[in-house]
Amino acid sequence: MLIVMIASECAPVSKVGGLADVVYGLSRELEIRGNEVEIILPKYECMRYDHIWGLKIFYQDLWVPWGNSGILCTLWVGFVHGRKCVFIEPHSKENFFKREHYYGFPDDAMRFAFFSKAALEYLLKTNRHPDIIHCHDWQTGLVPVLLYEMYNLQGMHHSRVCYTIHNFKYQGVTGTDVLSATKLDRTEYYHHHDRLKDNTHPTALNFMKGGIVYSNYVTTVSQKHAWEALHTDQGYGLGDTLHKHKNKFRGILNGLDYEVWNPEIDPLIPHHYTAATLDKKYGNKEVLRDKLLLNKEFKPIIAYIGRLDTQKGVHLIRHGIFYALQNEAQFVLLGSSPERSINNDFFKLKYELNDNEDCHLEIGFDEELAHLIYAGADMIIMPSMYEPCGLTQLIALRYGTVPIVRKTGGLADTIFDRDYSSKPFTARNGYAFHEADFTGIESAMRRAIGLWHSYPEQFRQLILQGMQYNYSWHRSGEYYLESYEGIRL
Ligand code: ADP
Repeated sequence: MLIVMIASECAPVSKVGGLADVVYGLSRELEIRGNEVEIILPKYECMRYDHIWGLKIFYQDLWVPWGNSGILCTLWVGFVHGRKCVFIEPHSKENFFKREHYYGFPDDAMRFAFFSKAALEYLLKTNRHPDIIHCHDWQTGLVPVLLYEMYNLQGMHHSRVCYTIHNFKYQGVTGTDVLSATKLDRTEYYHHHDRLKDNTHPTALNFMKGGIVYSNYVTTVSQKHAWEALHTDQGYGLGDTLHKHKNKFRGILNGLDYEVWNPEIDPLIPHHYTAATLDKKYGNKEVLRDKLLLNKEFKPIIAYIGRLDTQKGVHLIRHGIFYALQNEAQFVLLGSSPERSINNDFFKLKYELNDNEDCHLEIGFDEELAHLIYAGADMIIMPSMYEPCGLTQLIALRYGTVPIVRKTGGLADTIFDRDYSSKPFTARNGYAFHEADFTGIESAMRRAIGLWHSYPEQFRQLILQGMQYNYSWHRSGEYYLESYEGIRL
């Protein structure tokens, strides 16, 4: 099969969160299984160009009709750790992708509407007829709309669309002016309850809703979250739409790229190890402490790595830091937020804790440091309010770092509490709590820190049980292929 991924992120060149890991990891798995995969991405100025091999122009002057006129684009091709990627570079005064960040601009809806249209225009002009177009999140929700309503009529009959929702909170809710920009026009037709009209704001359009309505298949990233999106407020207003389309909606757990995330060969950590050589993990703990100037005492390191978003339970992360420091543990945080107020709060906290040698807060995005923390920490917290899948806990398991999570979405599907779980004892792999409050996170952290200090052998056994899990792409890749087979022509 020829499968084309259209996405706004791909690890490690353009990565904000788990979406990037999924686009890269799933593409790799599909290729291993004999498919041809191409990934179409925006050519952001702020990308990690050091991860692209052989970047070169392969198509000049792709004319993408836009508004009353059009925008010329240059298409680049290059390989990101073996994956073939096409990068779209538009030339217009808006400078859609020549910006300091990936997201967070007032014209984000226009930027990604343009990207979606340019991706299809490229496939049309180059006569590529993918069997499957797999697009992701709100940024590419317009792809199936444009394909079905516009590009189909120009000869793109063959392609079927699989649409994966990684985060229901961000839906691309925007004004109807995007219809004239993309040349879909016919406002009354599209701004209709059965098509793109937002379910909450009566004057707005919703890209994600368009993605759900027009795609041949829709997935989200864990079974539990598929249920939550259908039956609770975690569908963020799209529950009704999902119900209407529930026969084509399914949860498929994300996998983890076991080549990239492998402590046995990870080039970004100084001491390599496996379950059989676990003691070497502690070489990484030493290096992490040296790098972050932490005390070398007999204490576990508890970490948080991730976006600092209300979704992630920032108030509980903050509480977790103080709880760790007051209870014989050290804390390392690596994270950043597109919201200035949250970033400022954490900068203040960093300043407040500056002299504490049991704590380091790193506000920013740092792939290299993330690998060292996964390898050097003893535990990781994920007190999410909601979590569609979560990759951080899967990476932590792989690196022998015990996850302490709130039981929601993909976290509930993958982490099983050591003390309270219906799983057999030897299949338990971390700590989980229910309530999103201080008592909840404290109860789990207390048990984890207690086991580390008082029963090191049992803590080690818990690590090994976690390392036994296989959350690679193997099974999930199969599920995606099954889904593709079900819809392809
Ligand atoms: P989400 O997709 O909601 O952001 P996930 O847990 O699914 O969360 O994926 C997060 C991914 O992004 C992981 O690979 C994690 O290591 C990485 N990540 C998040 N924040 C940072 C950061 N500040 N620096 C480095 N890597 C980060």
